[in-house]
Amino acid sequence: MTDQPLIVLSGVNKWFGELHVLKDVNLSIGRGEVVVVIGPSGSGKSTLCRAINRLEPINSGEIVFDGTSLPAEGKPLARLRSEVGMVFQSFNLFAHKTILENVMLGPVKVRKEKAAAVRERAMGLLDRVGIAAQAEKYPAQLSGGQQQRAAIARALAMQPKAMLFDEPTSALDPEMVGEVLEVMTTLAGEGMTMVVVTHEMGFARHAANRVVFMADGLLVEEAAPAEFFANPRTDRAKDFLSKIL
Ligand code: ADP
Ligand code: MG
Repeated sequence: MTDQPLIVLSGVNKWFGELHVLKDVNLSIGRGEVVVVIGPSGSGKSTLCRAINRLEPINSGEIVFDGTSLPAEGKPLARLRSEVGMVFQSFNLFAHKTILENVMLGPVKVRKEKAAAVRERAMGLLDRVGIAAQAEKYPAQLSGGQQQRAAIARALAMQPKAMLFDEPTSALDPEMVGEVLEVMTTLAGEGMTMVVVTHEMGFARHAANRVVFMADGLLVEEAAPAEFFANPRTDRAKDFLSKIL
């Protein structure tokens, strides 16, 4: 059933103590779909991403990934995590390993794949994100944009079915934002299922199939980007857009 959505969140609630950070979230993400999540700081965007990857347990509701309800622990959880690549604002590369070693680590250590085959795939990925020449360097020797592209290659090395990006360009100097968005745009064009939390409205307009607007833990609006930017329906979305555009 390839028309079955890849990710389905139904009635998802999450509390941090007294704080209700995800409020009855329902969201269905199709295969190959690119969903951009926007909203004010503290609205629950990161928690949503982390919940999809089970980095954050939920209190109620259900998250189904590729037809299977998300396991809470054990081997099924490890497998699920390897099927969902995650890229954070901070690149989280291992400082004492080379870029190539960083990209190879997951498949070799977690998946026990043969190093030679992984090396070839990793070099192919570094080439795809435009940093093959940096393979033997250490993270600190790369620019922020190059490090983030390495982090994307590292996530792709696990051959994920979906990629989650949580503000991947927020920590970058402005001149490096474009090179990272370009890699993400290419990935989207190749049919990768992507959930992208970003303030880059140009990316949302051009690469997203759908924009989801969150505020106060609620999924307030979702629409095609052209429609959302031209005609936000709620006052909250209008207010948010007036501040960032
Ligand atoms: P966003 O990514 O949209 O800025 P977050 O998902 O990071 O929002 O956070 C949503 C709310 O949950 C915020 O009020 C934040 O302070 C709170 N929060 C996030 N993580 C934790 C945590 N580990 N413990 C307690 N509160 C948290
Ligand atoms: Mg966040």
